[in-house]
Amino acid sequence: MSLHIEGTLIDQDNHRHIAHHFTLPEGVTRLDIDFEYVPKRVDKYANLLTLSLFDPQVERGTGHRGQPHQHVMVSTGAATPGYQAGALPSGTWNIIINSNLINPGSPVNYHFDITFGFDPQPEPIVWMNGTTQPRGTGWYRGDLHGHTVHSDGSWDVDGLLGFARQNQLDFVTLTDHNTLSALPQMDSRSSDELLTMGGFELTTFYGHALALGIRQLVDWRVRPDERTMTQIKAEIEASGGLFVIAHPMAPGDPICTGCQWEYDDLMPGSARVVEIWNEHWDSSSNNEEALQLWYQWLNQGYTLAATVGTDIHGEPNPNLEFGFNHVFAGSLSEKAILEAVRQGHNYLSSGPQLTFTGTSSSATTAMMGDVLHGKTCQITGCWSACREGDIVRFIVNGQVKDEFSADTSGEHTWQLDDNSATWCLIEVRDQNGSLRAITNPIFFQP
Ligand SMILES: [Zn+2]
Ligand SMILES: [Zn+2]
Repeated sequence: MSLHIEGTLIDQDNHRHIAHHFTLPEGVTRLDIDFEYVPKRVDKYANLLTLSLFDPQVERGTGHRGQPHQHVMVSTGAATPGYQAGALPSGTWNIIINSNLINPGSPVNYHFDITFGFDPQPEPIVWMNGTTQPRGTGWYRGDLHGHTVHSDGSWDVDGLLGFARQNQLDFVTLTDHNTLSALPQMDSRSSDELLTMGGFELTTFYGHALALGIRQLVDWRVRPDERTMTQIKAEIEASGGLFVIAHPMAPGDPICTGCQWEYDDLMPGSARVVEIWNEHWDSSSNNEEALQLWYQWLNQGYTLAATVGTDIHGEPNPNLEFGFNHVFAGSLSEKAILEAVRQGHNYLSSGPQLTFTGTSSSATTAMMGDVLHGKTCQITGCWSACREGDIVRFIVNGQVKDEFSADTSGEHTWQLDDNSATWCLIEVRDQNGSLRAITNPIFFQP
């Protein structure tokens, strides 16, 4: 039993979620959808159409992959990565084309072939949750951004975990594009050595954000006049998640469709965390511009914490140096790590180790991410594991206040008593000016 649907998309269809409804009959145990479109590319840029599937009640997943021929299979026992296996309720289903990029001036022709199967299917795999013994309060090092074959990555969950182990991380996070289909497998791999965390990368036509600590998919589709990014953010937070603006200054269409952050309501609005370091420092994500944007937001009075994410999609070039988050958390658990990140109790580093604390005349103390009250403040930075040629910079309100050779390790105390400072932090840069480490700020209030 099968169905055939075809259509054409033109310039005006770019950046839309185009619905195709069909009726799934009683007794179906397997659904196969073949989707094809032409042309694959126009001049330099590939057209990018991705699919999302909804049963009569819930979203069954997204395959954020741009191949011009896509096959989606969902059965009672298995599914194409990105989609959820399980019972196939009869009724109205919806397959959506997400038109991430339709090159102008050249219509795209597409068709779907939808086939229903009624044969008995194998039993689904049941993943048992792994556990991580709490290790108490301390510094934990890990990644907050990574992909697998469940979206556009080239490796499976175990590949991502292998990367984390190779880098001796304490925690690693799955953030596939608009899907949680790999999360049960990820959760099953949590161990005393490596905490696995979950969420997804909210991937829209005008920006990406990480929804961390989320176990149920939130409708990620921004729809003009109907559903704003601020509303989606509020839903993520209401379900206990942490919302992180991802790679805000990455190039946008057509180079990286939807990668640049363009939401005026969250510049940064009520957002409290931003990923200023995506992939390796000198990647195409324009991290230096993202860092400067964060400084601007801090200068506007927003209390905003920074993160780093490798955004790893597969086996990396061994010459690349990635930064990781060093988080001061009450425990090695997803909840405690995300709470500490929300508070800015973390620094970002590809090697150097940092501490950054402050005390004030009114005898309050602060660590990175905290607010220090009082007129005169003493700020102390300590660094170690730096390389020859590394430079330490003390930054106040976005300006370099002090700068000297890191000399492998060291310690320095600064006195701030002019009341004009609203925040400060330290950067470690290499001799080429590339960032090697940065703390979250200490904020000042009289
Ligand atoms: Zn992204
Ligand atoms: Zn990503």
